[in-house]
Amino acid sequence: RAKDQGRGKSMVFDDAMHREAEERRRLQEDLRTALDDGELRLVYQPIVDLDHGGVIAFEALMRWQHPERGLLSPGLFIPIAEESGLIDAIGGWALRQACRDAADWPRHLGVAVNLSPAQFGQAGVLAHVTHALAESHLAPHRLELEITEALFMARHGNNERFLNDLHALGVRLALDDFGTGFSSLGYLTRFPIQKLKIDRSFVHGRADDDGRRAVVEAIVGIAHSLGLVTTAEGIETAEDLAWVTALGCSQGQGYHVAEPMPAAAIPAFLADFQPASRVACPAL
Ligand code: C2E
Ligand code: MG
Ligand code: MG
Ligand code: MG
Repeated sequence: RAKDQGRGKSMVFDDAMHREAEERRRLQEDLRTALDDGELRLVYQPIVDLDHGGVIAFEALMRWQHPERGLLSPGLFIPIAEESGLIDAIGGWALRQACRDAADWPRHLGVAVNLSPAQFGQAGVLAHVTHALAESHLAPHRLELEITEALFMARHGNNERFLNDLHALGVRLALDDFGTGFSSLGYLTRFPIQKLKIDRSFVHGRADDDGRRAVVEAIVGIAHSLGLVTTAEGIETAEDLAWVTALGCSQGQGYHVAEPMPAAAIPAFLADFQPASRVACPAL
């Protein structure tokens, strides 16, 4: 009897796995045409300077307006794009679109674009960045590329060369989700990285979490010593904002400041934005 039950369970399990695989396969099929069909979008989330409270950049975040399933988040479809090799085309599109959008913004504003580790080791990325900059006439220093520590663990032989080549184009490099990976701090001096984005798991709701606060304080200290900028991600409340500001983070980003928005909403957002009231930090 126990055996029968076990078999029953595993059949249910197999069935669920089968359905999941089928679902992924279908999404992958749909993703192949999503780009040409204009179903991919970028939304932009502002990044503020915590000294003066003003907006200094926007991070481009991808969305997929699926014809039947509605709006899909990148956590769902980026992994599928990575597995299927579609990430090269999709990532290239995101770079071009983000540069084109940013070229219309006031010149003190930068744009940050996420790069997947799966895009590395492909000479394509370098070509995509070069092309996106040339086509949009965006000044290279206004483009920031966000990479993750996962890149260092996926042993592509020429990471160092690749990042140096990107840096040589004049773009800036940020290490995203910092604090969640396992990479050696030595990478911070070996690679041309200018910014650490402190993962939101260390930020939101952590004002009273001594351990996390200590980690953030240490990251800010290391960044300061190495001349790197820090951005606190996931600022959801005034309290989050207050303590990361007090610890000396240079920049902040999160729902408390603003949620990601379509490019078309940016001019009105910038016109209405009140640094002092939205970014109510005690240091001001
Ligand atoms: P990320 O680069 O760390 O982006 C930050 C994520 O946190 C975004 O989720 C953003 O909407 C969300 N977020 C912003 N503020 C808050 C907050 O206050 N609280 C919380 N809980 N979340 C906040 P999103 O847009 O779903 O993107 C998820 C991840 O997908 C990104 O994480 C990034 O790794 C990846 N991604 C997004 N767009 C692209 C892209 O164009 N290319 C690649 N390769 N990856 C992308
Ligand atoms: Mg389609
Ligand atoms: Mg990012
Ligand atoms: Mg992040």
